[in-house]
Amino acid sequence: MKYGIHTLDDFDVRGKTVLCRVDINQPVNRAAGTLNDTTRIEGCAPTVRELAERGARVVLLAHQGGDLEYKNYYTTLPHSRVLAELIGRPVAHVDDVCGPYARMRIAELRDGEVLLLDNVRFMGEELTLFETRLNLTPAQMAQTQVVSKLAPLADLFVCDAFAAAHRSQPTLCGFAHVLPSAMGRLFEREYTVISDVLAAPGRPCVFVIGGAKIQEAFDVMNTVLKNGSADKVITGGVAANLLLHVSGVHIGKASLDYIYKKNLDYLFDAGKAVLEKFGDKIVLPTDLACVQDGVRKDVPVGALADGEAYIDIGRQTADSYAAMLRAAKTVFINGPMGVFEEEASAYGTRTVWQAAADCTGMSVVGGGDSVTATKAFGLADKMGYLCTGGGALLCFLSGNPMPVIDALKQSAASA
Ligand code: ADP
Ligand code: MG
Repeated sequence: MKYGIHTLDDFDVRGKTVLCRVDINQPVNRAAGTLNDTTRIEGCAPTVRELAERGARVVLLAHQGGDLEYKNYYTTLPHSRVLAELIGRPVAHVDDVCGPYARMRIAELRDGEVLLLDNVRFMGEELTLFETRLNLTPAQMAQTQVVSKLAPLADLFVCDAFAAAHRSQPTLCGFAHVLPSAMGRLFEREYTVISDVLAAPGRPCVFVIGGAKIQEAFDVMNTVLKNGSADKVITGGVAANLLLHVSGVHIGKASLDYIYKKNLDYLFDAGKAVLEKFGDKIVLPTDLACVQDGVRKDVPVGALADGEAYIDIGRQTADSYAAMLRAAKTVFINGPMGVFEEEASAYGTRTVWQAAADCTGMSVVGGGDSVTATKAFGLADKMGYLCTGGGALLCFLSGNPMPVIDALKQSAASA
């Protein structure tokens, strides 16, 4: 037991059928039928290998893309190949989630065999629309098709999907209601590392918040500044553009249009509120960069123009952020400083990431794109910890409820 949740040490899994929920959601190359990144598969491989080596009959459940990320809504077949390579044993795949064929294959598993089911989001019950509209309780989730069909075939539920721990979906929260449950090794490690850093962060502790998926950003800033975990929050990406706008800076029509187009304007109030309360601790860019015909242009925030979208923090800003990070003893990063995928707008992210890697304290990087950037810059070994979750990390840091953690605790308490 750790944090009131069972670990793999608490169960003898030999001969047991174990339903193991992983988060191996990765960017897909549809044309080639392959994956563009395999970080998350590498992350959960030790858990799968351990279960198989200890003689469990391992049934893996995973989602890939979904209604919010339709371009990556895809079969888990390529994942089975990558995983087999990583664990050095066959990983069977069925193009079914919980129908008769999938159930037959589960029933036929022998000790040490591994079977990956197809994308659980092929079941409507697992889509985000379903989650946000219906808001089912774990007891109700236990009655969904996917859980009620699969749970009777299994002896144990293992959740290794820390990156999805902030979600409330049947395969994440429903099984723990009806089966003994445990967290997997990756889940345990991510939970432990983040809790430990957050419990006693070296000072100063600096949060870096950027990126484009910024729904949680201002909540997190508010919480970590209020409870004192962060001494300073430095901002980039769309988060910074939005904060500049609500603080009265003219960010230009193109950048403002982007915020409206992505339906992020509902965050204006939250942004304004957090600046009013903690403005002295939130650092905004003093210049931004746009790219015209492949040429980068750095512009002071007083002189931003309408025509071009600002897609990176400026050089002056990046250099000043880097100095703050080199002096930090704890760094949490979520969200790139700009569109780092293009060289002309990569300066901000590269400079900030390099400084986080150079700082002598602990640097934790979370989020799919943030981790991709870390690897692209060759800094993976120089950061303290790469967390597979972005949204989950932010949710955890902001102290918001984590439905999967709650479900696992509940399950352990009622056993
Ligand atoms: P993570 O996956 O690390 O949580 P996000 O998904 O929130 O990060 O954001 C990553 C994406 O944000 C990247 O693809 C990057 O190109 C984009 N991005 C960063 N800054 C900007 C910006 N100013 N305008 C538009 N897109 C941006
Ligand atoms: Mg992302």
